[in-house]
Amino acid sequence: MEKRLAHSNSLSTIGELAASIAHEIRNPMTTLKGFVQLLKISATADTMKYLSVIDEEIDRMEAILSEMLILSKPGVNEKTTFSLGVLVADMIQVVYPKALMDGITITQKENILKDSLIVGDSDKIKQVLLNLFKNAMEAMTPGGNLSIFVNLDSPGKVILGVSDTGKGMDKRQLKQVFLPFFTTKSDGSGLGLPFVLKNIEEHGGTVIVESEVGIGTTFIVTFPSALGHATMKDTAEKRVLSL
Ligand code: ADP
Ligand code: MG
Repeated sequence: MEKRLAHSNSLSTIGELAASIAHEIRNPMTTLKGFVQLLKISATADTMKYLSVIDEEIDRMEAILSEMLILSKPGVNEKTTFSLGVLVADMIQVVYPKALMDGITITQKENILKDSLIVGDSDKIKQVLLNLFKNAMEAMTPGGNLSIFVNLDSPGKVILGVSDTGKGMDKRQLKQVFLPFFTTKSDGSGLGLPFVLKNIEEHGGTVIVESEVGIGTTFIVTFPSALGHATMKDTAEKRVLSL
């Protein structure tokens, strides 16, 4: 079993560079897109096919650039206290139809809904969850299982686990997963996990990845609890005391 604790030391510099490149590329692309639309007006059926391909590919480049810009945006925007467990349940609903289509089951284990409070930007954490769920689902074939838990087993922490029964990763892959542009997918951007890591770190959290080829992968994310060192047991006791 391979295990790795992630650090994004050079990510902000790479992020800044990516952002400036993304800005530079966007302008000429807008021009290209405009001229493709113009050409479409007088195109024959055959030419139209090619123009549509060009159009789609420009859209794909646009999408990658947007991801690069999101990645390089600094800091946490709106800070609130929210329940990670509730957010997880919401995001499972979002990916559920796709899982159903792909023949993948989703299991929620010991999800602590109310007391799994963390402080930060819930929109960013939503994106983190979607990226982790999406990667897990993309690593699996029909019959696979995506298993997610949120627990308070460590005092002062809210722990999230995302496990899949997918193809897993070897040592070499595992070393690179958080590097911008590392992807093994033909249509991948390699920007999902850098975004995930950056946002977890901005929320004072850490992430560990465990993987075994042919068995599956688990991401364990640990956030500081908004309740400080009050554990679930503590809060349960407090509630009893205040009755
Ligand atoms: P992308 O999904 O666009 O390829 P990511 O940054 O999200 O980019 O992931 C980078 C790479 O890490 C993936 O291409 C894949 O090789 C690997 N990876 C990430 N999550 C998993 C997973 N759950 N199982 C197996 N491989 C994974
Ligand atoms: Mg991804």
